[in-house]
Amino acid sequence: MFRNFKTVPQIIFGRGCFNQLDDILSLRRTSADAAMVFLLDDVFENQALRERLPVKTQDVLIPVNVDDEPKTAYVDRLTAQVREQAGKALPSGVIGIGGGSTMDLAKAVSLMLTNPGSAADYQGWDLIRVPAVYHVGIPTLSGTGAEVSRTTVLTGPEKKLGINSDHTVFDQIVLDPELIAGAPADQRFFTGMDCYIHCVESLEGTFLNAFSRAYGEKAMALCRNVFLDAGPDSDDNLMIASYFGGMSIAYSQVGICHAMSYGLSYVLGLHHGIGNCVAFDYLEDFYPEGVAEFRRMQEAHGISLPRNLTADLTPDQVEKMVNVALVLEPLWENALGKDWKTIMPRERIFDLYLRM
Ligand code: NAD
Ligand code: ZN
Repeated sequence: MFRNFKTVPQIIFGRGCFNQLDDILSLRRTSADAAMVFLLDDVFENQALRERLPVKTQDVLIPVNVDDEPKTAYVDRLTAQVREQAGKALPSGVIGIGGGSTMDLAKAVSLMLTNPGSAADYQGWDLIRVPAVYHVGIPTLSGTGAEVSRTTVLTGPEKKLGINSDHTVFDQIVLDPELIAGAPADQRFFTGMDCYIHCVESLEGTFLNAFSRAYGEKAMALCRNVFLDAGPDSDDNLMIASYFGGMSIAYSQVGICHAMSYGLSYVLGLHHGIGNCVAFDYLEDFYPEGVAEFRRMQEAHGISLPRNLTADLTPDQVEKMVNVALVLEPLWENALGKDWKTIMPRERIFDLYLRM
């Protein structure tokens, strides 16, 4: 079966295009009393960007905190807060301004405003029945591809798993390279490497096809430019690399690094980008060229990675990591083929975690 892949229908790209947000939203304001809900990464709470948001009197602005990656309980609290503050009318839209975590929160809240129950009820594939309210993603960090993906990655009471559905996909994204210019260098690197690793895992995977290869190769070339040969267009290139990398994996799959990074994140709370970097550094048996180039990029940017992260964990905790990683069967199959369970028995994953 071929996937009938839903893409973001409206994209605006270019330096300063954020200034058109008011015009874009005004076409989507459903009635005078329906609020636009702005979920803004709280890192911008006292910054100029906050003042540039086109917030009208009926609108709701909520600073969101992403020190921890999004949890289903947080999505439920935010949804309740929006219902309380937005008045009777269903909001006209939810706008997420921030990195992958904030964009995922915006996707999830837009879904939960129209679907009953808790976000945890919908972790999985195609469990969402009712379309979300209009939702917009505005990245302030580039690399995750969350702006194009059909998932919102959430940690729930039992698992770290996305709400994967066609309704999750943004209705509009605003790609303004000026918004990522102020990101701290190490954070920019970790999130950027998420994109680089998407490309490696897609291009080295068994699910590869012409669609994914075309996007993956271009995204990879852009990442090389950004991280090994940076010029004045770096932010533009990184933003497009993230988008193309996301398009590449959307029609193929990620691989071993992402599966293992999920385990690190579930047990240690490591953020996705840094978790990927930690895991990738131990995967040279599987991705020799990618890991070598990753290390050159790391050196060029003077980035050091945390070590001995699993040294103090109990065997049960490491087993938990293995379990979380193994739930992601399509990732293993993409990386290693149908026979992946023989190539990658539990013990081998356990040993890899012990080295981290
Ligand atoms: P993030 O959103 O987790 O943010 C990381 C840190 O950077 C936060 O402290 C944030 O406040 C700060 N930050 C964001 N923009 C900034 C800026 N311009 N200047 C200064 N600080 C800034 O980082 P991320 O790497 O973009 O996203 C990781 C998240 O994305 C994880 O929660 C992961 O699960 C999710 N993700 C989702 C998808 C998807 O397809 N939905 C894919 C990959 C990752
Ligand atoms: Zn990723």
